[in-house]
Amino acid sequence: MARYTDAVCRLCRREGQKLFLKGDRCYTEKCAVDRRTYAPGQHGQGRTKASEYGSQLREKQKAKRYYGVLESQFRGYFEMASKMKGKTGENLLSLLERRLDNTIYRLGFAMSRAEARQLVLHGHFTVNGRKVNIPSFLVKPGMDISLKESSRSLDKFKSVIEANSFRQPPKWLDYNAASLSAKVVAAPSRDDIDLPITEQLIVELYSK
Ligand code: SF4
Repeated sequence: MARYTDAVCRLCRREGQKLFLKGDRCYTEKCAVDRRTYAPGQHGQGRTKASEYGSQLREKQKAKRYYGVLESQFRGYFEMASKMKGKTGENLLSLLERRLDNTIYRLGFAMSRAEARQLVLHGHFTVNGRKVNIPSFLVKPGMDISLKESSRSLDKFKSVIEANSFRQPPKWLDYNAASLSAKVVAAPSRDDIDLPITEQLIVELYSK
């Protein structure tokens, strides 16, 4: 599947805020958003006032980029969300949040969602005791997510877990540090998702 392969810091600069796509570099003074506060490209320092459509588009792009999904996938999540009970925008974010790669990131096994995606693809995690290597797999309440037994001794995980110990998993995940596993105790609600996304703008965009 096609993936975005250009410099990811350009995506943050386009949105005018940190999307935390590069792991530990995002927390240092090397962050491109901190160093260059304007959008990338020839006209990046030009027009800044966005139209209504422009604001809606930017919000959708921002959500896509946070979670690392492509347009067709994102549209698919929107269709799913619109068929669920409740507010479509909140359902959309809840679905994105339930992706296995995001869940692994939230648990602190990876420094970024992109890294979490790689780790899932390489088969380091199990769900309900079975290996799952599909980043888009949606976790549900009651499922157990665990670092695979054979992956636990890898230096990579030791250092990442230590470095990420400051990050508290969200309350929809009951993390057990001793067993390096977590139970999904609820579907993530809007309050559990700390991303600065105005989901209503995305709903308005797709409702045109
Ligand atoms: Fe975005 Fe991280 Fe790059 Fe900063 S360092 S621009 S937050 S990806």
